Amino acid sequence: MPLFTEKKLRVLMVRTDQIHPQISGNKWYKLKYNLRAARQQGYSRVISFGGAYSNHIHALAWSAKSFGLDSIGIIRGESVVNPMLADAREWGMQLHFIDRASYRERHNPDWVATLRAKVGAGFLIPEGGSNALALRGVAELMAGVQNQIPELNVLLCACGTGGTLAGLLSAAKGHVRVEGYPVLKGAGFLYQDIEQLLFAAGAEAQCLWTLDLDAHYGGYGKINSAHKEAWLRLEQDHQIPLDPVYTSKMMRRFIEKVHQNAYPKGSTVALLHTGGLQGRRSVDVSA
Ligand SMILES: *Cc1c(COP(=O)(O)O)cnc(C)c1O
Repeated sequence: MPLFTEKKLRVLMVRTDQIHPQISGNKWYKLKYNLRAARQQGYSRVISFGGAYSNHIHALAWSAKSFGLDSIGIIRGESVVNPMLADAREWGMQLHFIDRASYRERHNPDWVATLRAKVGAGFLIPEGGSNALALRGVAELMAGVQNQIPELNVLLCACGTGGTLAGLLSAAKGHVRVEGYPVLKGAGFLYQDIEQLLFAAGAEAQCLWTLDLDAHYGGYGKINSAHKEAWLRLEQDHQIPLDPVYTSKMMRRFIEKVHQNAYPKGSTVALLHTGGLQGRRSVDVSA
């Protein structure tokens, strides 16, 4: 890219979207130890939560099946038919749709107990898969990244719940800095959520880290026409497929910052491609 040459930056993309045809991206790292724990604790099924285009639900349906576990997806909103849910069903996931008001209760223990009584016993994985076990899997990813790119100065990661970022921080080595790009509007609460996830995992951030609160471009899942244009242009310019909700927003914000000289000359910067490409099916890219 002429822009990166002009700014004297070495920019790399870590393609976790290419680790597997079905469970692309960060979700596999987050699920791995959860599924292992479910099996070790003698569960035959796992239960989790998500929206109707959730990358987490999609990855869970496939990976639970590959672990020989049944899966139940509690899906926010009215019953719908879409390619993500069709995949999940095909991979054996049982889907339960619940209205948005009830879905907001998902952190309430009483509500969860009622849910369990209804759907049956199962190993519960939180929304987005973010818990202490998730951090362990992502820590392995971080070690791999730094082994492959020892000279890395800055690593960028898109954030939803912050579980992936917390896992990266828990395993960072040396002088790397990690930048999180929340895709939710007003995501300042993530500072605390990330600290809590680290605490729950008995870990600490091993490097400096920041959150860029200007990367939401309208908010979670909002793909306005300006963002759609920016997203498709980034894919063209860099010849890399990006998902509409996460990686396209991280990369859009990154390019803006490069123009503003946010990174010192000579830096090696890596963007974590967290996958989620199945979510491209939620947006009509032909129009
Ligand atoms: C879920 C997801 C994220 C965010 O991960 P968190 O651990 O929830 O912060 C980032 N990118 C993609 C593509 C995702 O699917």
